[in-house]
This record gives sequence, structure tokens and C-alpha cells, in this order.
Amino acid sequence: MIDRHESICGTVYLVGAGPGAVDLLTVRALKLLEAAEIVFHDALVPREILTLSSRAELVSVGKRCGRHTTAQRFINKRLVDAACRHRVVVRLKGGDPLLFGRAQEEIAALEAAGIRYEVVPGVTAAFAAAASIGTSLSQRGGVRSVALATPRVGSDENASDWARGFAAADAGAIYMGIGEAPAIAAALLAKGKPPALPVAVVENASLPHERIVYTSLARLASITASDFSGPTLLLIGPQFTKRAAAQQSSDAASVVDAKTARRA
Ligand code: SAH
Repeated sequence: MIDRHESICGTVYLVGAGPGAVDLLTVRALKLLEAAEIVFHDALVPREILTLSSRAELVSVGKRCGRHTTAQRFINKRLVDAACRHRVVVRLKGGDPLLFGRAQEEIAALEAAGIRYEVVPGVTAAFAAAASIGTSLSQRGGVRSVALATPRVGSDENASDWARGFAAADAGAIYMGIGEAPAIAAALLAKGKPPALPVAVVENASLPHERIVYTSLARLASITASDFSGPTLLLIGPQFTKRAAAQQSSDAASVVDAKTARRA
């Protein structure tokens, strides 16, 4: 089938911006940002990355923590319209574009309109957070399955049974979960996870103001979203203890600066 826009329209690149640090962008992402004529970006993408797109018109289609300031349908339409006016359109999403980023809806809209697109993967938050604490997501001999989950459901979606799949894995990362930490703890305890199961809460992974809190499933309930202002990920699994010579007690109040944690 000949796509109706293919000959006259440009290409939309769905690009992963990575977890925040500029030097965790892929080389391909950097080249596309430099070549872009227009960049549609999420709220989480730092200004330092956006300035790499010196020639481009920057359009914030900010979605933060599920608060959709620009309706997804409107974003889809703007991407299609932009592709008919520009050669290189970048849709820049935090982390990897194909994880918890509603990319499928954008891809469907582009396909329906016959617009060429390409996806450029990025470093997802779970990989950056694991790197920050120097702890492997998998562990030889013990952790062989790793779940990536979110308890977040959109207003138009059915209730989620995210905890079932998450609890079946040996370890995992929870995205967009800090606002409902008590409910997450309760759900996983109800699925039979032990109260002492370690949890590493990683805020602003890869960024200078990165922060890590080591706690346990039982104590996760005492964590509130207001303790964290940046994007925050929960790493849950037997390996996510603070591995320092002097093992600290797993206390939600013990906030460890990432740089200290790395040197420890
Ligand atoms: N596509 C993104 C995830 C989007 S959902 C990715 O692959 O990383 C947004 C959630 O990702 C945030 O609520 C937070 O849970 C997590 N996140 C994104 N960047 C982060 C960072 N630098 N540090 C910690 N968590 C982050």
C-alpha cells in the first residue's frame, strides 16, 4: 500500500532522552536533536538536553506523573501535522520511548496517517537507578526475572492487577509509584512478599541531585510523595540493600547522597 503522506511528509522520530544526564543520550538521539526542525518533548526532559536542538522549535507537551496537561489525542494530531510541514520531527520522551510513555498511541496515529516514523531507544530509569547504586537488576543464582511495572492507571482504563506479575518476578522496578507507596507495599505484602524485602528508592537517577533512600517493604508505607520532588523509582528485590562495609539499618529516614553511596 502506498502511504498517502509518504512522498510529501517528513519523518517523526520517537526518541528516548534517557534518564536525565545529557551524556546518557545515545549518539543517534544527539544527531537527531541537532537535525530536528521541531521537537515535541515531555516535562521530564531537562533543559540541558533540549538546548542541543539549537535549530528546532521546542514544543512542550508536558505530561508529569499522569497529569496530562496536553491530551494525548491532541499530541498525536500535532505530530502528524508537524510531519507534513517539517522534514525531521523529534518526539522526545524520557528514558526509553517504548516504556510507560504512551508511544503506541502516537505510533498508531502516525501509521493511520501514513507518516514515516522511527523509534530510537533510550536508557530507561530502571537501568540508570541500578547503575547509580551499583546493584545488578539480575543476580546470578537468585534473581532471574525482573519486572518493570507501574501501578498507575489512566482515567479511561480498567483497574490494574500490576502486583500479580510483579510479585511473580524475583525483583523489579516500579515506575510512577512514589505517590502510592503505602498501597504498593500493601499489595506486595498481600501477594506474599516478605516485610523485610529491601527497597531502594532512587530519585533523579543519573542527575546531580540524585538521592537514594534504602528501606524495606514494611517501611515503604511511611514514605510519602512529598519527600521527593524529582522523578522517583522504586527498586524492589533481595539485592537492593545498601551494600556498604558498614551495613546501615534499613530505615526510610536514612537518606544517602548518591555520590557517598557510590564511594562507600
Ligand atoms: N519512559 C520512561 C518512563 C516514563 S514514566 C523511562 O523509560 O524511564 C515516568 C517515571 O519514570 C517517573 O515517574 C519515575 O518513576 C521514572 N523516572 C524517570 N526518570 C527518572 C529518574 N531520572 N530517576 C528516577 N526515576 C525516574
